[in-house]
Amino acid sequence: MSKKHTDVTASKQINADLLQFDKEHVWHPYTSMSSPLPSYLVESANGVHINLASGESLIDGMSSWWSVLHGYNHPKLNAALVEQAGKMSHVMFGGLTHPSAIILCKKLIQLTPAGLDKVFLCDSGSVSVEVAMKMALQYWHSKAHLENNALTKTKLLTVKNGYHGDTFAAMSVCDPVTGMHQIFEQVLMQNYFAPAPSINFGEQWHDDDTKALRQLFNQHHHELAAFIIEPIVQGTGGMRFYHPQYLKTCRQLCDQYNVLLIVDEIATGFGRTGKLFACEWADISPDIICLGKTLTGGYMTLAATLCTSDIANTISNGEAGCFMHGPTFMGNALACAVANVSIDLLFENNWQLQVQTIEKSLKELLQPLKTNNRVKDTRVLGSIGAIECLQAVNVAVIQKRFVELGVWIRPFGTLIYIIPPLIITTAQLTTLVNAITTVLAEDKCFI
Ligand SMILES: *Cc1c(COP(=O)(O)O)cnc(C)c1O
Repeated sequence: MSKKHTDVTASKQINADLLQFDKEHVWHPYTSMSSPLPSYLVESANGVHINLASGESLIDGMSSWWSVLHGYNHPKLNAALVEQAGKMSHVMFGGLTHPSAIILCKKLIQLTPAGLDKVFLCDSGSVSVEVAMKMALQYWHSKAHLENNALTKTKLLTVKNGYHGDTFAAMSVCDPVTGMHQIFEQVLMQNYFAPAPSINFGEQWHDDDTKALRQLFNQHHHELAAFIIEPIVQGTGGMRFYHPQYLKTCRQLCDQYNVLLIVDEIATGFGRTGKLFACEWADISPDIICLGKTLTGGYMTLAATLCTSDIANTISNGEAGCFMHGPTFMGNALACAVANVSIDLLFENNWQLQVQTIEKSLKELLQPLKTNNRVKDTRVLGSIGAIECLQAVNVAVIQKRFVELGVWIRPFGTLIYIIPPLIITTAQLTTLVNAITTVLAEDKCFI
């Protein structure tokens, strides 16, 4: 046996052992530990390609859960990390600060909708939602304290079909059914839910769509600290794009009833929908905004919650004298450094043109699928393309087929969607859509 052959055999065995250990001991997101779906071992990723240890190179249609913007293993993003690591990777943010965090906060204030002037850096999207909710609650607590009033505003209002993260406060504003609220009923904060927006982006607007929402505001505003919503795109709730007038009405109702507006831009921020922030479709500014996912271009976990000066000052003048939150890794220097370069790259690469090009290609490529007998609907907004099927997918089978076809697409329920890195070419998008067209013809991929 040649040396090369023995090496290959040895590395195959190592990989098999790794996967076996993974299967037996490592939790994966929303995955059973007793009968897990298979996981694929990744060796590296480059540009829009994810390279498996088994040799296949896959075109990435997922941006690693919406986070990768400029591709994997990007020389400038890599260099930002190396440069920052050469100074320090992290220092505590209590009593210390550093240029990477300060410059990032300055950028975020400049880029986000007007009025969001104070930045709280945190570890992940879910935490940024926790922080946003806590800010809203502490704001009203401080206000009651300062004005010597009883505190009544302790609940949140949201819409059904939403997703805001997996931690407890975030979970309490996720869709009650798909968020499995019954499991945690006894410990979950009880909030109010309006029906999901039903008029789609691009359709004719009618005020009826906000009727139930207006009633809920009218009925409960004394109890409401904040209203929280994903702007324009309900992502995890099925990639549904709703009418900007709905979001505009949310702003109006929050003003009318003295309720804070929290907008969760974790999935939509930094260009995904064709606007830098999806709020811009409705031309509104929220009182609090949550950013995450693409913030570091998919390199590191980092999120941010921005609020108005009024909220920050009211909280700071309240009983506690400060906002009651401070994660260990707040303002992590590596994450901030890579976020700064990722944001610069957006503009260097002309993100608007990148997203428009993807949108145009996706619209053309998905058009023929509209009449596919397994497809209920296809829709495109910015760099997001969704194919809603009539049947649920068999995740294990369809995933294996996608890998065989050279693409990484991970559907859920009845939804096959792509949300590629912004550097993807039309040829690569075509490969993604061709793979989808192929699996749509295969009965075994559906339940
Ligand atoms: C992904 C997501 C979150 C949660 O972010 P994590 O980083 O996974 O905690 C919250 N809100 C929205 C809209 C998201 O898409």
